[in-house]
Amino acid sequence: MAERHSERFFKGISASPGVAHGQVYVFVPKELKISSHRIEASEMDAEVERFEEKLLQTRQEILALRDAVSDRLGQDSAGIFDAHLLVLEDRALIEESIREMEETGRNITYCVNSVAQRYIDTFANIDDEYLRERANDIRDVTKRLLHNLAGEVRDCLGALDEGRIVVARDISPSDTAAIEKGKVLAFITDAGSKTSHAVIMARSIQVPAVVGMRDFMAVVRDGDEVLVDGYDGTVVLNPTDKTLFGYGKLEEQKKVLHRRIMSEASLPAKTRDGVEVALRANIEGPDEIGRIKDFGAAGVGLFRTEYLFLEASGFPSEEEQFDSYRRVASGIGPHPVVIRTLDLGGDKFPNSVYPSEAEANPFLGLRAIRLCLESPDVFKTQLRAILRASAYGNVKLMYPMISGAGELDQANEVLAEAREELDREGTPYDREIEVGTMIEIPSAAITADLLAQKCDFFSIGTNDLIQYLLAIDRLNERIAHLYEPAHPAVLRMIRGVVEAARRENIRVSVCGEIAGDAIMVPVLLGLGVDELSLVASGLPPIKYMVRNLEMTAMQDLASAMMQGTSATGVLELAEEFYQKHVAHLIA
Ligand code: PEP
Ligand code: MG
Repeated sequence: MAERHSERFFKGISASPGVAHGQVYVFVPKELKISSHRIEASEMDAEVERFEEKLLQTRQEILALRDAVSDRLGQDSAGIFDAHLLVLEDRALIEESIREMEETGRNITYCVNSVAQRYIDTFANIDDEYLRERANDIRDVTKRLLHNLAGEVRDCLGALDEGRIVVARDISPSDTAAIEKGKVLAFITDAGSKTSHAVIMARSIQVPAVVGMRDFMAVVRDGDEVLVDGYDGTVVLNPTDKTLFGYGKLEEQKKVLHRRIMSEASLPAKTRDGVEVALRANIEGPDEIGRIKDFGAAGVGLFRTEYLFLEASGFPSEEEQFDSYRRVASGIGPHPVVIRTLDLGGDKFPNSVYPSEAEANPFLGLRAIRLCLESPDVFKTQLRAILRASAYGNVKLMYPMISGAGELDQANEVLAEAREELDREGTPYDREIEVGTMIEIPSAAITADLLAQKCDFFSIGTNDLIQYLLAIDRLNERIAHLYEPAHPAVLRMIRGVVEAARRENIRVSVCGEIAGDAIMVPVLLGLGVDELSLVASGLPPIKYMVRNLEMTAMQDLASAMMQGTSATGVLELAEEFYQKHVAHLIA
């Protein structure tokens, strides 16, 4: 008993900032029982009719939820339910369920559940946080649909009547949406990631959230007292008065700090010794433009266009692609948008457009530019759409996964054909459009001198570059500790790419996750990287930091690190720099 009431600290992933203190409500949604029974062929029409009816009812519920959330939290938050409506309207899911019913003679509820489960499993196993989260959309919508088909009322958090800290294995957007502001003080989930929709909701209702706690549900009980630190992902069970006092002060400090950082979000990202650094945002679609402007983004440094292909039910036409690219170009202008051509294939996701065959080594397989060069029509359609959009803003085009100059030449040949076609048609585009190369394969980095002669800019994709350079399969958790951004090999490679770019007078950006890592940013800038592109909400603190640092100090750090021999020793230098020059500014 004494053990249960002693103070205990737990660590998860910080997902929404803020500090909260209160009593726990353990949320365990009731398991829905899916019955399986045979139906006669003569009953199938009626079963389909019932299915269509329940689809409609579910659609109406989601629409009502969307309107309620839109009124309460604004349109951005309600956008989640548009994604849900798309799942509900997905003919593939509907038709596959009906086909399964006809082929197996099982009731439709059972068939919908098994088809949806297959989709969920596919998405849940993709090595991409954003796409994995789409499994949650499908899970949430089908759960609602299955409850309606089974005639059961679903549990939801709307029934909460006091300010509680909700602890759950996972929380769906529908669960969060049902909550009235003020009722929930914070969220703690065992599962989840920073990009889950529930977390996006938590941020928009400005409630702290800590996710990825793994087994917190096993130790906590209804009514337990907890303190949630959404800034660094700490959860304290049974906090002492001393801890609470410390956190009270921390919260005050963080609020002041956040206000200060946000007040400079739209100022230039210039170091104290006058070097301007371009800080841009990574985006997945045109709807993000308004939001990234609020965070002071100087344009888009990476538009991951493959997400458009995921959202569309089939292959997005040239017109549809053009519309998305144009919206971004005109919305963010005069700032630039770097539109990256498709990075589909490999492990990224299997999809209806490219039915992928199983590959023994998908990371080394038919992915990105390789796939595009194998499907020149698909590639040229995208290039035409990007070129056409370039007439409406400052558009730059970029190829992913280029392995060397030959591949860049091949890509440029297709681009030249697309340009000729547009010329013949008299369709306008920016004739000076810059064409860049991602440096994310070691062979590209090593031949950066050759590539630099053939393109207008580089963008280093450290997520992949580190994986390929250090031979660390990022799916393999047993070697995750070896994924070391400060490894001397990584630093030398980045330095080499920067030097090759300098000789040809082209600019270098970094658009992998380390561009948002406050410990690594001074190193990257010290190595000579000109631009950083990162998740938009991470821009204000990085800008604040850049504005308060001297470029010469960052260069000294990078030079010292270049002398290091081990990844750990080298990282220590960056951490010392962070503690001395950065921590007091943004942490
Ligand atoms: C990268 O590899 O660093 C990158 C930005 O591309 P993606 O994360 O989309 O693979
Ligand atoms: Mg990549």
